[in-house]
Amino acid sequence: MNTYQTEQLETLRLVRQELAVCGAEDLLQLKTKITEYLAFRTQVAAFLKTHFQSICTDKCYQNRLSACCSKDGIITFFADVVVNVLASGLEELAQMERTILAPANDFKCIYLTAEGCRWRIKPIVCEFFLCDEAENKVFGHDAQARKCWEEFSALKKTFNWPDRTVLFETIEHEFMARGCRSPLMYLHNSPGLVRIRRRREERHKQ
Ligand code: SF4
Ligand code: SF4
Repeated sequence: MNTYQTEQLETLRLVRQELAVCGAEDLLQLKTKITEYLAFRTQVAAFLKTHFQSICTDKCYQNRLSACCSKDGIITFFADVVVNVLASGLEELAQMERTILAPANDFKCIYLTAEGCRWRIKPIVCEFFLCDEAENKVFGHDAQARKCWEEFSALKKTFNWPDRTVLFETIEHEFMARGCRSPLMYLHNSPGLVRIRRRREERHKQ
């Protein structure tokens, strides 16, 4: 396994173990916390289905090109993993572990299988990636759809961009308080994102 696979597998296992021993009340609180985010993701998925499904099916899915999923190093946030574990069944998660351990092919994302992406709620970076060709095809003649996508993109930041206290940060923080550590805790590990958090904290002190 390469470093990426190791980090992905260890984080998935850590989250699964932690949620398995967390009390019913804590679990309910966590599920309540992600409700708004899941509703947002449902809206985004519906938008993508309406505007992009036929293009993506023609260009990528029918011929299994899956150009969005070519790299094996897609960024997954710690909160992506937590949300997905909370939304998935035990067998799905066991399958996910097996997929990380033995990816289907060497040139695509490790999570891409013959049945599609292994995530139930795929990483936010993946959900918001659109290739230029698909974007131009849809937004070139539909200004309303472009505007809607820009609004979704702005809304996305309210969940994962730490110029304010955001869900992705809160989730990391809560797991850290339980003693968990993961390289995928980018809101606490990535120098760029940490800088944004520090600036925010300094603003609050003034
Ligand atoms: S966004 Fe572009 S690269 Fe991704 S699946 Fe659609 S057509 Fe393919
Ligand atoms: S995680 Fe899923 S959607 Fe994202 S690149 Fe991998 S297979 Fe594609």
